[in-house]
Amino acid sequence: MELNLEKITFKGVSEERPLVIAGPCSAETEEQVLTTACELADKGIKIFRAGIWKPRTKPGGFEGVGSEGLMWLKKVKEKTGMYTAVEVATEKHVAEALKYGVDILWIGARTSANPFAMQEIADAVKGAEVIMLVKNPVNPDIDLWIGALERLYNAGIRKLGAVHRGFSTCEKKIYRNLPHWSIPIELRRRIPNLPIICDPSHIGGKRELIAPVSQQAMDLNFDGLIIEAHCSPDEAWSDASQQITPEALDLILNTLVIRDMNQTTENLNSLRRQIDTIDNDMFDLLAKRMRVSREIGIYKKEHNMSVLQSARYDEIIQKRIEIGETLGLSPDFSMKILEAVHEESIRNQMEEMK
Ligand code: PEP
Ligand code: MN
Repeated sequence: MELNLEKITFKGVSEERPLVIAGPCSAETEEQVLTTACELADKGIKIFRAGIWKPRTKPGGFEGVGSEGLMWLKKVKEKTGMYTAVEVATEKHVAEALKYGVDILWIGARTSANPFAMQEIADAVKGAEVIMLVKNPVNPDIDLWIGALERLYNAGIRKLGAVHRGFSTCEKKIYRNLPHWSIPIELRRRIPNLPIICDPSHIGGKRELIAPVSQQAMDLNFDGLIIEAHCSPDEAWSDASQQITPEALDLILNTLVIRDMNQTTENLNSLRRQIDTIDNDMFDLLAKRMRVSREIGIYKKEHNMSVLQSARYDEIIQKRIEIGETLGLSPDFSMKILEAVHEESIRNQMEEMK
């Protein structure tokens, strides 16, 4: 479905990349909210985020201050002129946030994964003139992400954006949530006019990763950044390890290199033509390989052999990975390609077996 979106602009906020949204993971006290907001405003930040209702993985953690915090956000607006953003997950949250004049409502990763919750929110925002951002669902499912956006679009929301916050995994290594950059890139391909904002705080889960992940997002032409900032990060009641001071945020933003992605030089054009030719050759070769596979399928059928010959498959994998390594291809990458090619070969051979 095609989305006819309206451009998201804010009076008094530059349209240059990146659009920056910053503020604490959670609103904790009136003082913490106002101090953080004033420090951010001093650094030129125009849009303030704060979680009021916090979705926690386990019960017993700090679950947010609730509606009381909306009063503090109203004060932030009056005192600093900043725009405000909160997370909503139920129709009650939506009603409360709209009542207090919050400018941006964002949908968290646990909520965008749930179509029932998304529909409840969509019904609640019908007719509202509000900007909405949808974080990717916790699982790497682009259709679920797009489905959440479409529900809001169908409810009449035209100022829509997406937030890339990474995807949950049980193997926690470098990142708290794996970036899987190919997913937001595919989202851009499918809905080119949808702004995409990166959340390096939740992707990285630690302060040191905010700068490199932000730079990567800028290099991939993302439109903005949403970063958790707190007046006293070490004492934060949630996500302390990934929050930074407004001063550290300012430093990170000032050292970001923003490259113009549309500028095409002659050199780049010629490299792209090379890539086009190589890709065409690669597809020709793959098609040729599949034709041979089908012939093998015919042979196996005539000789009453099973499609899957495990010993042969193991041998192929081992040898090809070794060759790949000598050519500078990582074993991981070679494995992925071989698995995909093998799966398609089996599919072709099964067709011949029918
Ligand atoms: C947040 O932004 O503080 C938050 C809870 O994010 P997510 O939904 O991405 O986990
Ligand atoms: Mn958080």
